[in-house]
Amino acid sequence: MLLEVRNLHVGYGDAPAVWDVSIEVDAGEIVSVIGPNGAGKTTLINAIAGMLRSRQGHLRFDGVDMTRVRPHGFCEQGIALVPEGRRLFAKMTVEENLELGCYLPRPRAARAESLERVYGLFPILRQKRAQPAGELSGGQQQMVAIGRALMAQPRIVLFDEPSLGLAPTIVDDMFDIIVRVRDAGAAVLLVEQNVIKALSVADRAYVLEQGRIVATGLPDELMKQPHIREAYLGV
Ligand code: ATP
Repeated sequence: MLLEVRNLHVGYGDAPAVWDVSIEVDAGEIVSVIGPNGAGKTTLINAIAGMLRSRQGHLRFDGVDMTRVRPHGFCEQGIALVPEGRRLFAKMTVEENLELGCYLPRPRAARAESLERVYGLFPILRQKRAQPAGELSGGQQQMVAIGRALMAQPRIVLFDEPSLGLAPTIVDDMFDIIVRVRDAGAAVLLVEQNVIKALSVADRAYVLEQGRIVATGLPDELMKQPHIREAYLGV
């Protein structure tokens, strides 16, 4: 297994947000975590990205115990995050934002090749490479955020609500891009409130509610469960 999360507990001060969560992602998979607002999806993904410390439990990536690894070490190991809200530097150019993804020595050595790969995936970004990122549309800014993650040559890309705030017409494109990221060789862990889309691209999925995993399985199986149908699919 590429990523193994076992009995993970994460919280803020005294307030627990994620309890006893176990999930796995293998190489070549797209795994989705769905759940309502405030369920703990961002907390979970930030802990896997090394941005938040877990209180208990294990986090292994490609056999390495990540529990004591410092945040920059997560990136070094090949874990890249596309954060909620994109978090770009609006006044810096598209290319400068992309380059922030390859500050570590190994990815920096492959900078030119990675840029070509990102521009191959997102030709519009090549056209806009010298423009401030803040002038791009929402969908294009999301492409910059994904491109920045890819510049780190990750083995897994963590997506936090990639469809949030995008025009409905762009949302389908965004999920196509996620599939292309996987097809290009990185595993994908996706947390989303857009349940139908998140299940439609996933190989497997987990349902997170109030900080706990309450269901897991193949997307087709989950979509047949009465609770999922009522709570998420409105049927
Ligand atoms: P959303 O879709 O709204 O982002 P989420 O499923 O990602 O929801 P989290 O943002 O992980 O959920 O929040 C889980 C719980 O942790 C919530 O009860 C939230 O209020 C709490 N929480 C999140 N961030 C903090 C923080 N910085 N300090 C304290 N509590 C927080």
